[in-house]
Amino acid sequence: MKKFKRIKDYNKKYGYELREALKTIRPYLIQAFTIFYGDKYYSKIKETINSICYTFFLSEPCLKVFRKYGYNISNKDKRITSYYIQYLSDVTKRIRLFDEDTFVKASCDAYIVESDFARDSLSELFLDYLDASDKNPFYTVFEGEGEKYYHAIFLPLLAVNLETVIHEVNHAFMDPAVAVSEEDIIMTTPFLNKECVELFNDYIAHQILDIYIKLRAPIPSCLGKFDFVNCYEQFFYLIEPFYIVFHKIIQDSIMSENFNMLKEYAGKENFDLFCRLVKAHFENQECSEKELTYLYELVFQMQEHGLNLKPENYSNYYRELESLGYRVRKL
Ligand SMILES: [Zn+2]
Repeated sequence: MKKFKRIKDYNKKYGYELREALKTIRPYLIQAFTIFYGDKYYSKIKETINSICYTFFLSEPCLKVFRKYGYNISNKDKRITSYYIQYLSDVTKRIRLFDEDTFVKASCDAYIVESDFARDSLSELFLDYLDASDKNPFYTVFEGEGEKYYHAIFLPLLAVNLETVIHEVNHAFMDPAVAVSEEDIIMTTPFLNKECVELFNDYIAHQILDIYIKLRAPIPSCLGKFDFVNCYEQFFYLIEPFYIVFHKIIQDSIMSENFNMLKEYAGKENFDLFCRLVKAHFENQECSEKELTYLYELVFQMQEHGLNLKPENYSNYYRELESLGYRVRKL
Protein backbone atom coordinates (compact mmCIF):
# COMPACT_ATOMS: atom_id res chain seq x y z
CA MET A 1 0.00 0.00 0.00
CA LYS A 2 1.22 3.42 -0.93
CA LYS A 3 0.49 4.89 2.48
CA PHE A 4 2.56 2.25 4.26
CA LYS A 5 5.39 2.67 1.80
CA ARG A 6 5.43 6.35 2.78
CA ILE A 7 5.57 5.33 6.42
CA LYS A 8 8.57 3.09 5.78
CA ASP A 9 10.36 5.98 4.06
CA TYR A 10 9.55 8.28 6.90
CA ASN A 11 10.81 5.68 9.39
CA LYS A 12 14.13 5.44 7.62
CA LYS A 13 14.56 9.17 7.64
CA TYR A 14 13.59 9.40 11.28
CA GLY A 15 15.82 6.49 12.27
CA TYR A 16 18.71 8.21 10.53
CA GLU A 17 17.93 11.46 12.31
CA LEU A 18 17.94 9.69 15.69
CA ARG A 19 21.21 7.96 14.93
CA GLU A 20 22.85 11.26 14.03
CA ALA A 21 21.39 12.83 17.17
CA LEU A 22 22.92 10.09 19.34
CA LYS A 23 26.28 10.64 17.66
CA THR A 24 26.04 14.37 18.37
CA ILE A 25 25.26 13.96 22.06
CA ARG A 26 27.72 11.13 22.77
CA PRO A 27 30.75 13.23 23.82
CA TYR A 28 28.55 15.38 26.05
CA LEU A 29 26.94 12.31 27.58
CA ILE A 30 30.41 11.02 28.44
CA GLN A 31 31.23 14.39 29.97
CA ALA A 32 28.00 14.58 32.01
CA PHE A 33 28.31 10.99 33.27
CA THR A 34 31.94 11.66 34.24
CA ILE A 35 31.01 14.79 36.18
CA PHE A 36 28.36 12.79 38.01
CA TYR A 37 30.33 9.62 38.80
CA GLY A 38 33.79 11.15 39.12
CA ASP A 39 36.91 11.60 36.97
CA LYS A 40 38.42 8.31 38.05
CA TYR A 41 35.69 6.49 36.10
CA TYR A 42 36.22 8.40 32.87
CA SER A 43 37.74 5.49 30.89
CA LYS A 44 35.04 3.06 31.94
CA ILE A 45 32.31 5.56 31.13
CA LYS A 46 33.82 6.38 27.76
CA GLU A 47 34.31 2.75 26.82
CA THR A 48 30.80 1.71 27.85
CA ILE A 49 28.99 4.62 26.20
CA ASN A 50 30.97 4.15 22.99
CA SER A 51 30.20 0.43 22.91
CA ILE A 52 26.41 0.73 23.14
CA CYS A 53 24.50 -0.62 20.12
CA TYR A 54 21.16 0.95 19.27
CA THR A 55 18.05 -0.44 17.64
CA PHE A 56 15.15 1.79 16.65
CA PHE A 57 11.76 0.21 16.44
CA LEU A 58 8.05 0.92 16.31
CA SER A 59 6.13 0.21 19.46
CA GLU A 60 2.37 0.42 19.67
CA PRO A 61 2.16 1.23 23.42
CA CYS A 62 4.84 3.92 23.06
CA LEU A 63 3.11 5.44 20.06
CA LYS A 64 -0.16 5.65 21.98
CA VAL A 65 1.60 7.33 24.90
CA PHE A 66 3.28 9.70 22.47
CA ARG A 67 -0.02 10.65 20.85
CA LYS A 68 -1.74 11.10 24.19
CA TYR A 69 0.91 12.82 26.31
CA GLY A 70 3.50 14.25 23.99
CA TYR A 71 3.69 18.03 24.25
CA ASN A 72 4.46 20.32 21.33
CA ILE A 73 3.98 17.59 18.76
CA SER A 74 3.42 18.92 15.27
CA ASN A 75 0.24 17.99 13.42
CA LYS A 76 2.39 16.14 10.94
CA ASP A 77 3.81 13.91 13.71
CA LYS A 78 0.31 13.34 15.06
CA ARG A 79 -0.88 12.19 11.64
CA ILE A 80 2.13 9.95 11.24
CA THR A 81 1.55 8.44 14.68
CA SER A 82 -2.01 7.52 13.74
CA TYR A 83 -0.77 5.92 10.52
CA TYR A 84 1.78 3.91 12.49
CA ILE A 85 -0.82 2.57 14.88
CA GLN A 86 -3.04 1.59 11.96
CA TYR A 87 -0.08 0.04 10.17
CA LEU A 88 0.94 -2.03 13.20
CA SER A 89 -2.55 -3.38 13.83
CA ASP A 90 -2.78 -4.29 10.16
CA VAL A 91 0.58 -6.08 10.22
CA THR A 92 -0.21 -7.90 13.47
CA LYS A 93 -3.45 -9.21 11.98
CA ARG A 94 -1.61 -10.56 8.95
CA ILE A 95 1.40 -12.10 10.67
CA ARG A 96 -0.65 -14.01 13.20
CA LEU A 97 -1.36 -16.53 10.44
CA PHE A 98 2.28 -17.55 10.11
CA ASP A 99 4.23 -20.26 11.93
CA GLU A 100 6.54 -19.15 14.72
CA ASP A 101 9.71 -18.68 12.69
CA THR A 102 8.02 -16.65 10.04
CA PHE A 103 6.20 -14.74 12.75
CA VAL A 104 9.50 -13.69 14.35
CA LYS A 105 10.99 -12.62 11.04
CA ALA A 106 7.86 -10.82 9.97
CA SER A 107 7.55 -8.98 13.31
CA CYS A 108 11.17 -7.93 13.06
CA ASP A 109 10.60 -6.57 9.60
CA ALA A 110 7.48 -4.77 10.65
CA TYR A 111 8.71 -3.33 13.91
CA ILE A 112 12.40 -2.71 13.53
CA VAL A 113 13.35 0.35 11.60
CA GLU A 114 17.09 0.40 11.96
CA SER A 115 19.69 -1.40 13.99
CA ASP A 116 23.38 -1.77 14.67
CA PHE A 117 22.85 -5.52 14.49
CA ALA A 118 22.57 -7.71 11.44
CA ARG A 119 19.03 -8.86 10.62
CA ASP A 120 19.63 -12.53 11.49
CA SER A 121 21.11 -11.87 14.92
CA LEU A 122 18.39 -9.32 15.50
CA SER A 123 15.36 -11.64 15.39
CA GLU A 124 16.53 -13.53 18.44
CA LEU A 125 17.64 -10.41 20.19
CA PHE A 126 14.33 -8.75 19.57
CA LEU A 127 12.46 -11.73 20.98
CA ASP A 128 14.67 -11.67 24.08
CA TYR A 129 13.94 -8.02 24.38
CA LEU A 130 10.18 -8.54 24.15
CA ASP A 131 10.37 -11.33 26.71
CA ALA A 132 12.52 -9.44 29.15
CA SER A 133 10.80 -6.13 28.90
CA ASP A 134 7.08 -6.88 28.74
CA LYS A 135 7.28 -4.64 25.69
CA ASN A 136 7.76 -1.67 27.91
CA PRO A 137 11.27 -0.70 28.98
CA PHE A 138 13.66 0.23 26.28
CA TYR A 139 16.82 -1.46 27.37
CA THR A 140 18.34 -4.88 27.26
CA VAL A 141 21.69 -6.64 27.05
CA PHE A 142 22.92 -9.63 25.19
CA GLU A 143 25.93 -11.78 24.60
CA GLY A 144 28.24 -10.58 21.88
CA GLU A 145 30.94 -12.48 20.05
CA GLY A 146 33.40 -14.42 22.18
CA GLU A 147 33.57 -13.34 25.76
CA LYS A 148 32.48 -9.79 25.27
CA TYR A 149 29.10 -8.50 26.39
CA TYR A 150 27.60 -5.65 24.50
CA HIS A 151 25.09 -3.17 25.73
CA ALA A 152 22.07 -2.92 23.50
CA ILE A 153 19.46 -0.22 23.77
CA PHE A 154 16.11 -0.41 22.03
CA LEU A 155 14.48 2.92 21.37
CA PRO A 156 10.97 3.41 20.06
CA LEU A 157 10.73 5.81 17.15
CA LEU A 158 9.09 9.13 18.01
CA ALA A 159 8.49 8.50 21.70
CA VAL A 160 12.07 9.02 22.80
CA ASN A 161 13.67 12.02 24.43
CA LEU A 162 17.02 12.90 25.96
CA GLU A 163 15.86 11.93 29.43
CA THR A 164 14.95 8.44 28.20
CA VAL A 165 18.30 8.05 26.48
CA ILE A 166 20.17 8.98 29.67
CA HIS A 167 17.98 6.63 31.73
CA GLU A 168 18.73 3.73 29.38
CA VAL A 169 22.44 4.51 29.15
CA ASN A 170 22.62 4.57 32.94
CA HIS A 171 21.19 1.05 33.02
CA ALA A 172 24.36 -0.09 31.26
CA PHE A 173 26.19 0.83 34.49
CA MET A 174 23.47 0.21 37.06
CA ASP A 175 22.55 -3.37 36.12
CA PRO A 176 25.16 -4.72 33.73
CA ALA A 177 25.08 -8.24 32.38
CA VAL A 178 27.73 -10.35 34.04
CA ALA A 179 27.02 -13.78 32.62
CA VAL A 180 24.78 -15.72 30.32
CA SER A 181 23.21 -19.06 31.15
CA GLU A 182 21.13 -21.31 28.88
CA GLU A 183 17.89 -19.60 29.79
CA ASP A 184 18.84 -16.24 31.01
CA ILE A 185 21.06 -13.22 31.02
CA ILE A 186 22.38 -12.75 34.54
CA MET A 187 22.46 -9.18 35.64
CA THR A 188 23.69 -7.73 38.85
CA THR A 189 22.81 -4.55 40.69
CA PRO A 190 23.30 -2.92 44.09
CA PHE A 191 19.57 -3.13 44.81
CA LEU A 192 17.35 -5.98 45.80
CA ASN A 193 14.55 -5.69 43.29
CA LYS A 194 13.65 -4.28 39.89
CA GLU A 195 11.51 -1.51 41.35
CA CYS A 196 14.42 -0.09 43.40
CA VAL A 197 16.74 -0.39 40.41
CA GLU A 198 14.30 1.61 38.28
CA LEU A 199 13.65 4.29 40.89
CA PHE A 200 17.34 4.84 41.65
CA ASN A 201 18.25 4.57 37.98
CA ASP A 202 15.75 7.24 37.05
CA TYR A 203 16.71 9.46 39.99
CA ILE A 204 20.34 9.33 38.85
CA ALA A 205 19.30 9.94 35.23
CA HIS A 206 17.64 13.16 36.38
CA GLN A 207 20.82 14.32 38.09
CA ILE A 208 22.82 13.58 34.95
CA LEU A 209 20.26 15.35 32.76
CA ASP A 210 20.63 18.45 34.97
CA ILE A 211 24.40 18.34 34.49
CA TYR A 212 23.93 17.90 30.74
CA ILE A 213 21.69 20.98 30.62
CA LYS A 214 24.09 23.02 32.76
CA LEU A 215 26.88 22.16 30.31
CA ARG A 216 24.72 23.80 27.65
CA ALA A 217 25.29 20.71 25.56
CA PRO A 218 23.21 20.41 22.38
CA ILE A 219 19.79 18.75 22.42
CA PRO A 220 18.94 17.68 18.86
CA SER A 221 15.35 18.47 17.92
CA CYS A 222 14.29 14.83 17.49
CA LEU A 223 15.26 14.21 21.14
CA GLY A 224 13.60 17.35 22.40
CA LYS A 225 10.06 17.11 21.17
CA PHE A 226 8.67 14.45 23.45
CA ASP A 227 8.12 15.43 27.03
CA PHE A 228 6.21 13.56 29.72
CA VAL A 229 6.31 12.74 33.38
CA ASN A 230 7.31 9.11 33.76
CA CYS A 231 5.95 6.74 36.37
CA TYR A 232 9.06 6.96 38.61
CA GLU A 233 9.36 10.68 39.25
CA GLN A 234 6.35 10.93 41.51
CA PHE A 235 7.88 8.29 43.82
CA PHE A 236 11.30 9.84 44.20
CA TYR A 237 10.33 10.88 47.74
CA LEU A 238 10.53 7.20 48.74
CA ILE A 239 14.23 6.98 47.96
CA GLU A 240 15.50 10.55 48.18
CA PRO A 241 16.71 10.52 51.81
CA PHE A 242 18.51 7.23 51.20
CA TYR A 243 20.13 8.65 48.10
CA ILE A 244 21.25 11.81 49.91
CA VAL A 245 22.87 9.83 52.73
CA PHE A 246 24.48 7.14 50.57
CA HIS A 247 25.00 8.77 47.18
CA LYS A 248 28.80 8.49 47.25
CA ILE A 249 28.67 4.78 48.06
CA ILE A 250 25.91 4.22 45.51
CA GLN A 251 28.03 5.84 42.81
CA ASP A 252 31.18 3.91 43.70
CA SER A 253 29.32 0.67 44.06
CA ILE A 254 27.76 1.07 40.60
CA MET A 255 30.98 2.08 38.90
CA SER A 256 33.19 -0.50 40.60
CA GLU A 257 30.51 -3.17 40.11
CA ASN A 258 30.96 -4.03 43.72
CA PHE A 259 27.34 -4.36 44.57
CA ASN A 260 27.83 -5.62 48.12
CA MET A 261 29.51 -2.47 49.27
CA LEU A 262 26.27 -0.62 49.84
CA LYS A 263 24.61 -3.49 51.67
CA GLU A 264 27.58 -3.93 53.97
CA TYR A 265 27.79 -0.29 54.83
CA ALA A 266 24.05 0.18 55.40
CA GLY A 267 23.61 -3.13 57.24
CA LYS A 268 22.13 -6.08 55.37
CA GLU A 269 18.88 -6.50 57.27
CA ASN A 270 17.77 -2.90 57.21
CA PHE A 271 18.89 -2.55 53.63
CA ASP A 272 16.85 -5.57 52.50
CA LEU A 273 13.84 -4.33 54.45
CA PHE A 274 14.19 -0.86 52.92
CA CYS A 275 14.28 -2.29 49.38
CA ARG A 276 11.26 -4.49 50.06
CA LEU A 277 9.23 -1.59 51.50
CA VAL A 278 10.09 0.72 48.61
CA LYS A 279 8.94 -1.97 46.20
CA ALA A 280 5.68 -2.46 48.09
CA HIS A 281 4.88 1.27 48.25
CA PHE A 282 5.76 1.71 44.60
CA GLU A 283 3.53 -1.17 43.58
CA ASN A 284 0.62 0.03 45.72
CA GLN A 285 1.19 3.52 44.39
CA GLU A 286 0.87 4.93 47.89
CA CYS A 287 2.63 5.38 51.18
CA SER A 288 0.96 6.75 54.30
CA GLU A 289 2.65 9.34 56.48
CA LYS A 290 3.29 6.72 59.14
CA GLU A 291 4.87 4.34 56.63
CA LEU A 292 6.99 7.11 55.22
CA THR A 293 8.22 8.07 58.68
CA TYR A 294 9.18 4.44 59.21
CA LEU A 295 11.04 4.39 55.89
CA TYR A 296 12.99 7.52 56.81
CA GLU A 297 13.69 6.08 60.26
CA LEU A 298 15.22 3.07 58.54
CA VAL A 299 17.49 5.34 56.53
CA PHE A 300 18.58 6.97 59.76
CA GLN A 301 19.37 3.57 61.27
CA MET A 302 21.34 2.58 58.20
CA GLN A 303 23.30 5.79 58.41
CA GLU A 304 24.01 5.09 62.07
CA HIS A 305 25.09 1.58 61.16
CA GLY A 306 27.56 2.95 58.65
CA LEU A 307 28.93 5.51 61.06
CA ASN A 308 29.16 3.06 63.96
CA LEU A 309 30.88 0.29 62.09
CA LYS A 310 33.69 -0.91 64.30
CA PRO A 311 37.08 -0.54 62.70
CA GLU A 312 37.35 -4.30 62.18
CA ASN A 313 33.99 -4.31 60.39
CA TYR A 314 35.16 -1.47 58.30
CA SER A 315 38.04 -3.42 56.84
CA ASN A 316 36.09 -4.66 53.82
CA TYR A 317 34.89 -1.20 53.07
CA TYR A 318 38.39 0.23 53.45
CA ARG A 319 39.68 -2.40 51.07
CA GLU A 320 37.04 -1.43 48.54
CA LEU A 321 37.92 2.21 48.85
CA GLU A 322 41.60 1.43 48.40
CA SER A 323 40.96 -0.69 45.35
CA LEU A 324 39.11 2.28 43.92
CA GLY A 325 42.19 4.42 44.32
CA TYR A 326 41.22 6.25 47.56
CA ARG A 327 43.97 6.78 50.06
CA VAL A 328 42.14 6.08 53.25
CA ARG A 329 43.34 6.86 56.73
CA LYS A 330 41.75 4.61 59.31
CA LEU A 331 40.13 6.54 62.14
ZN1 LIG B 1 14.62 1.63 33.27
